[in-house]
Amino acid sequence: MAWDFETDPEFQTELDWMRGFIDTEIIPIESLLEEKSRAEIAPVLEVLRDKVKARGLWGAFLDPALGGQGFGQLKLALMSEQIGRSMFSMLVFGVQAPDSGNMELMAHGATEEQKERWLWPNLRGEITSAFALTEPFNAGADPTKISTTAVRDGDEWVIDGHKWFITNASSADITLVFAETNPENRPHKHASIIVVPAGTPGMDVVRDVGTMSHPRPEFGRPGGHAEVIFRECRVPLDHMIGEPGDGFVLAQKRLGGGRIHHAMRWLGQAQRAFDIMCERAVSRESHGRLLAQHQMIQDYIALSHMEIESARLVCFQTAWKMDRYGAAKVRHELGMVKALVSKTVLAVLDRTIQVCGALGYSTDLPVESWYRGTRFGSIGDGPDELHKSVLARTLLKDHRPVQGWPTEHIPSRRAAAEAKWAELCAQAPS
Ligand SMILES: Cc1cc2nc3c(=O)[nH]c(=O)nc-3n(C[C@H](O)[C@H](O)[C@H](O)COP(=O)(O)OP(=O)(O)OC[C@H]3O[C@@H](n4cnc5c(N)ncnc54)[C@H](O)[C@@H]3O)c2cc1C
Repeated sequence: MAWDFETDPEFQTELDWMRGFIDTEIIPIESLLEEKSRAEIAPVLEVLRDKVKARGLWGAFLDPALGGQGFGQLKLALMSEQIGRSMFSMLVFGVQAPDSGNMELMAHGATEEQKERWLWPNLRGEITSAFALTEPFNAGADPTKISTTAVRDGDEWVIDGHKWFITNASSADITLVFAETNPENRPHKHASIIVVPAGTPGMDVVRDVGTMSHPRPEFGRPGGHAEVIFRECRVPLDHMIGEPGDGFVLAQKRLGGGRIHHAMRWLGQAQRAFDIMCERAVSRESHGRLLAQHQMIQDYIALSHMEIESARLVCFQTAWKMDRYGAAKVRHELGMVKALVSKTVLAVLDRTIQVCGALGYSTDLPVESWYRGTRFGSIGDGPDELHKSVLARTLLKDHRPVQGWPTEHIPSRRAAAEAKWAELCAQAPS
């Protein structure tokens, strides 16, 4: 009977190393990063990255067949939980969105020549990438409807369209653009993915949009979410990843394990917030008792722990199933993970702010910024409503309509109950 909740001791050593490294090398400098320029951060990032590379933990998300180390989703989930303790760690470990998803996409769809040009440099951290799907005037939740087009003209694709919220488009070296190439093949074979290098004439990065996380963004800073207009933007034909019409299938590739990694990072953040909440609860008195001795605070703590632990188990089980049966078999569960954990982490962050009172609301603690930064979770990468809808529809496929009373209608089952009773009574010793 295989039912094991323990991590291999060898891999646990790696997780312990990650935890120690993040806690001693990254978390201490975290509060300074916002005020440092890209140029100031770059050499420090290199120092940290070299240590991760030396440990063999760099960019650890691709399957061996795709050029990665092949940790598998369960190990990646455990690693992502550690990385979530400080979101800066994503850059240090080479697993930052949107690069990781783009690399997964290219690993599946790019030619060897395209991999040499874009994938491997991206994986080595020499270039960065953005992914442009969402548009201001079409619902991003429904990518079957986009207005951006790419039309073939001789040996070039000519792209026209308007995108927005494109993470890193103002700083990335390449943007993977999701554009309609085959309108006759709507809804799911009409779009393709085309690589547009930064600085290509006709690609106008208009601005980085202000957000809850960064109300006054600095244009061109990594982590910005850009509005981009393409006007007769021309790139060679060999900039298309995959075949015309492959856009949907390839876009799905970038989301598979990524949803689990996102979720586990959020849970790493939730656990750090939980520790902040507990420390405050055992340190501060109100009405003659520690906060920890007030039952409502105990409720917050117990509830947060229960929610974190249950969400972790759902993530681990989904990761395990994905390793065993493949992404296609757990599609609805990947959405479940995302919709569940995006709420769990916000609930824990919110309770932490509450228990810390004015201090929690203040910028003297990191929790308010985590809250603003993580609120996107239930919107980005398809809103939670959509994932729940896919989940519900998948679950409903296992259910058939009945005529008349429900199957479990007690009066209708009375006769069968009595028959079964009589049968069991007949077997009982007299
Ligand atoms: C921080 C952040 C980073 C992002 N980075 C990128 C990026 O790099 N590249 C990119 O292309 N996009 C990016 N996005 C955009 C993101 O993918 C979209 O915001 C998302 O897909 C939702 O699309 P929308 O914003 O147009 O909302 P809409 O599609 O307009 O949906 C708005 C709301 O309507 C409701 N809704 C929509 N559809 C349904 C439905 N079927 N059932 C029930 N309710 C529904 C939901 O409540 C939803 O939140 C990013 C977004 C954020 C917040």
